[in-house]
Amino acid sequence: LGTPDPLAPGVAEAVAELNALTRTRPSLRIPAAVLADLLREFPAQALPNLNVGLEAATATAKLEDGIPLLRGVAVEFDRHALRRRWQAVCETVGRHHADGAPAALARAAGMEPADLLGEVLTGHPESVAARAEAAGVDAALAGTVLRFACLPLLTRIADQWGPVWREAAWARGYCPVCGSWPLLGEFRGLEQHRVMRCGLCAAGWAFPRLGCPFCGNRDQRRLAYFHAEGEPDRYRASTCDGCRGYVKMVAALAELPMARLLVADLATLHLDLAAAHRGFFVP
Ligand SMILES: [Zn+2]
Ligand SMILES: [Zn+2]
Repeated sequence: LGTPDPLAPGVAEAVAELNALTRTRPSLRIPAAVLADLLREFPAQALPNLNVGLEAATATAKLEDGIPLLRGVAVEFDRHALRRRWQAVCETVGRHHADGAPAALARAAGMEPADLLGEVLTGHPESVAARAEAAGVDAALAGTVLRFACLPLLTRIADQWGPVWREAAWARGYCPVCGSWPLLGEFRGLEQHRVMRCGLCAAGWAFPRLGCPFCGNRDQRRLAYFHAEGEPDRYRASTCDGCRGYVKMVAALAELPMARLLVADLATLHLDLAAAHRGFFVP
């Protein structure tokens, strides 16, 4: 509270984009309505008592070694506040789900958001899905709710540490702050610089046009792009025959705020389906 809201920039534009998306792709009506509600109702209030146990010099050295800032670092915050936010996100999503899955997620044992976040930050995001399956709840839904629950925490940390990671010569495929794989990438501006974007903390980092973020492949014979009919410039998927990974790429004039990044992810769902159809996946 009192600090700028990291989700607010772009929310109005994002909601307008979602309305337009619903008109052109009626099949996205429900996920678009869920996202619009989440963006409007969760103006990322800061979680109280946030403290990252990290010194600037250590942070710089970690980045030089290719280690994300938050890997192995104690992040202190109010676990109860995170839990309340998690439950509120479940309630909002639940308004759009007739099957009661979000309510089941809110009640599920073993789904403590602070612990799930801990798994992500120690480099084990797959544990979130494993815990969801063990608890008998929807794993994809758990991932979405966790993202929204943790957004204010992680975007705040990325903002605070921006002067450190933005200065680093970071050449990895994963996020320099939280270690996640990119949600998508941007081809930015007239020069079409390639910038990867994190869907958890909103960090962005430059990445070579010809390179796979997942396996580091730089062999252009094994890298390709595909796009949907009619949108060759706006949305593309960048694929790697080395690891069968893919990352979606969107055209952006400037750095997309988090809200619009999430809309771009939904607006390119057809590329995820096409990529799966072609045998590509996100590791
Ligand atoms: Zn991140
Ligand atoms: Zn690869």
